[in-house]
Parts: sequence; C-alpha cells; structure tokens
Amino acid sequence: MGREVRLFIDGEWIESESDARIESRNPASPDEVVARVSRATSAEAERAVETAASASESWADRTPHERGDVLREAAAIVDDRTEEIAELIVREMGKTISAARGEVQRGIDLFDYYSQIARDYDGVKRPSADSNTLAYTEREPLGVAAAITPWNFPFAIPAWKIAPALVSGNAVAFKPASSTPATGAAITRALADAGLPDGVLNFVPGSGSDVGSVLTEHPAVDAISFTGSTGVGSSVQRTASGEGKRVQCEMGGKNPIVVDPSADLELAVELTVGGAFGLAGQACTATSRAIVFEEIYHEYLEALVDAVEALRVGDPLDPATDTGPKASADNLEEDLAYVQAGRDQGATVVTGGRRIEDPELASGHYVEPTVLADVTSEMTVAQEEIFGPVLSVLSVADYEEAIAVANDVEYGLSASICTNRLDHAKSFASDVDVGVVKVNQTSTGVELQLPFGGKKQSSSETFKEQGRQAIDFYTHEKAVYVT
Ligand code: NAD
Repeated sequence: MGREVRLFIDGEWIESESDARIESRNPASPDEVVARVSRATSAEAERAVETAASASESWADRTPHERGDVLREAAAIVDDRTEEIAELIVREMGKTISAARGEVQRGIDLFDYYSQIARDYDGVKRPSADSNTLAYTEREPLGVAAAITPWNFPFAIPAWKIAPALVSGNAVAFKPASSTPATGAAITRALADAGLPDGVLNFVPGSGSDVGSVLTEHPAVDAISFTGSTGVGSSVQRTASGEGKRVQCEMGGKNPIVVDPSADLELAVELTVGGAFGLAGQACTATSRAIVFEEIYHEYLEALVDAVEALRVGDPLDPATDTGPKASADNLEEDLAYVQAGRDQGATVVTGGRRIEDPELASGHYVEPTVLADVTSEMTVAQEEIFGPVLSVLSVADYEEAIAVANDVEYGLSASICTNRLDHAKSFASDVDVGVVKVNQTSTGVELQLPFGGKKQSSSETFKEQGRQAIDFYTHEKAVYVT
C-alpha cells in the first residue's frame, strides 16, 4: 500500500480535508505504490501561507546563530537517515542508489554550509565621507518564501531553497513535485525533528494548478523560488512579478559538450557519457548535445557508441547499475517521440532508440541510452530539452562554428568543453552564453559554495541559487547611517 504521508501545517501532520491522494509509484516497478499522500486543497495551501506569515516574525527575531543551530541539527538527523532517504528517492524517481546517496549527502552539506553562513551572513561596513558617521548595511528577511520544486532532485533542490530561506529568517511554504511527495516529507520531517518552531516550515503536496497557483499568487508570499520546466517557470515568473513578489526561476537546459582535436578522446567520451546518461539524462544540466570537430568526429563517435553500449541499464537499487529507468511512462514516451522526430528530420540512430525489452526490466520505464548522429542545429532534437538519455552529436568545422552552434539554442544553463588548448578553454568560458561553464568536466554537477543559475530561457536571471548569493535572494539589504 505504500507509506502514508500527510500535510505539515503549523507543526502538525494532518490529513487533507479532501479525500484525494497522490500516489507515488516506483518507476522501476510501477505496480509498487511507494507512498499515498494527502493532497492539499487550495484552502489548505492558503492556510500554509498564512501560518508561515504568523510564524515569520518570531523566527526573524531569533538570532542567526539560533537559526543556524536548527540546520546543524537537521544535518545530523539526515545523516542518521541517509540510507532510508536514499532508498526512498530511488523508489520515487528511479535514480541509482549511489546517486541518491550523493543527493542526500548534498542535502546534509547544504544544511551544514548554511548553518555556518548564519554566523557571518550580515551586511557590510563602509567608510563614510563624514568621519563622524558610521555607515553600514543590515540584512532583514523578506517574510514568507514559497519553494516550488521538481522531481529530479527531490531532496537536494528543496534543501538548497529551504536552508538559505530559513537561516536568513524567513518562514517557508514548500510544495514538492507531485511524483516525489514522500521525499519532500522526509526533508520536512528532518527539519521539524531538529526543533524548527511550529509554522516556520509548512509542507503542502498537491497539484501545480491548485497549490502551485496559491503559492504563486497569495499576497502574503513575499518571494518564490521555483525550479522546474521553462513553460511552468515562465508563467510563475509572469504572475508573481506582476504581483510585486521577488521571484527566482531555474528552468530547463540544452547543454553542450564541445570536443576539439586537442582533447584526450578517452576523457571526452567519459565526460559525454557521464553527462548525458547519468540519471537517465534527467538533470537540468545533462549533456544533450556533443559538438565535435569534423576531423575527429568519426573516431569520437565510434568510441562513444562502444562506451554507451557498455552501460548497464537496470534496477537502480543494484549497485552495479549505471543508469536506471525514466521517472514516468510519459517521460519515456516523450523520449521515443523525440527519437522519431530526429529520424524524420534526417538524424541517424547509431545506438539505442527503443524501449528496453529485457523481460526482467520490461515492466519498468526503461529506455535504451540513445545516440543520434548527423544532427544539425536546426533539428528539434538539437533545440528542445528532451530530459532523457538521448544525445545528439553534431559536427563542426572549427572553434567559431562550435561556439555558434553551442549558443544557437534558447537555453543557457551549463556547457562543457573538452580540450587541451588553453586558448580554447579561456575563450569558451567567455564566449559560451550560459551560467555554468566546465572545462574538462561534465556539464552536470555543481559545488554548493558557488552561485548556480542560467541565462536565456534557463533562468529568470534575477538572483542566483546556492553559495552566499542565495542569501541575497531571501533578504533586503538596508543602508544605515549613524552620526
Ligand atoms: P514542472 O515544471 O512540471 O514542475 C515543477 C514544479 O512546479 C512542480 O512542483 C509542479 O507541481 C509545479 N507546478 C506545475 N504547474 C504549476 C503552476 N501552474 N503554478 C505553480 N507551480 C506549478 O517540472 P518537472 O517536470 O517537475 O521537472 C523537470 C524540469 O525541471 C526540467 O525542465 C528540468 O530542466 C528542470 N530543472 C531545472 C533545474 C535548474 O536548476 N535549472 C534543476 C532541476 C530541474
């Protein structure tokens, strides 16, 4: 029957007044119901926001040290529950167990990091023109922050929104993705067990159209931190900024790896495979285009296909598995439709392209890791975010063409180059129009102490997430002059 999960409002786990339940299912074995979750109504989402608004003042009055101590305790609690939470992530969305453990560890690290930031996140002092004046800035919380999150990092993304919001003195209303509500409940429970006062964090699983809309529009919400698709994010941004709220949206990507002739070919293949097929391609920073100089194109493609065919697709709880299932049947069908669109427009499927038919895996949402060759930049598969293990390989004549192709998309999240030429590495860092640049690394994976965010349709480009910059989003900075 799966575990029962409730809403968490004003410090209490409660059943929704609606009888509706969200069921999360295991994508490796969709008959398995992982959790049955009370589905919040619009009225309950409103209550969550109003509760957060009432709790926000006394939370803001706590010292940053006290707020940081709660996060530190939550980090210790999550550490104790790592295995349980990692398994839950695997069962709700299908990433491999080692990736899920890594995600939980990222949550612990984020709680630790922001508990430290609590001790020195305040404003700055500047010399005044008048020697009798003390001039400095002071930060104050905004009030109520709404966190709206996707299913692909169901623990780490809520952690990187909620931790800086709380530590800087805001109360939070948190809506997880509908397919990963039990993981969202696990992060809420850890913070509640760590001693967060009632009402400071409220958990309202529910639909985007009901709960998401309330969090976007409610007048008591001061800031919205959204991560998800560009379609939904753009509409959240329009509505929320129209209401005068501070809003931060991190959205889709169409991330390239450029491979030039100086590159170590083995490394280039390793980076491409890791970036494109880890998490079954379901990362916003996943590599979805390989842009390869023509003089090494065939050699690279041959080595790439060998490496992709050696990947072990299977049960995500098996430690030997390299990549697990897609998160849902719809996601899988979309991948197959993109592969067909690629074929129709002249691309060649050099490996993969089908649902996996192995009887042991057939009931899960498994798709073959797929490489499309002969792709050109105007094709749908080179332009749209696929969010699956489908890589497009494009051939270019030189560096100028590589940059033109890399930038020839609406997205601008992350980009990688594999090269042994310092001039290419340096030029690429400035020329490529994205928020995260990697040289001789995969396009995926970011460190928490650096700001994270994209450009163009990947991001609202207002405030960055993670790092100390996350605090800027959740606070006002006042200038103070004392004579
Ligand atoms: P999604 O846009 O479907 O959903 C994201 C969240 O928005 C969910 O909680 C959903 O319930 C909610 N939502 C849906 N409709 C809403 C509405 N009308 N108002 C308010 N909220 C609403 O995205 P998804 O399928 O969960 O996640 C996959 C997408 O997320 C991909 O496009 C991926 O690139 C993106 N993503 C981006 C980043 C990043 O940092 N840039 C990180 C991870 C995922």
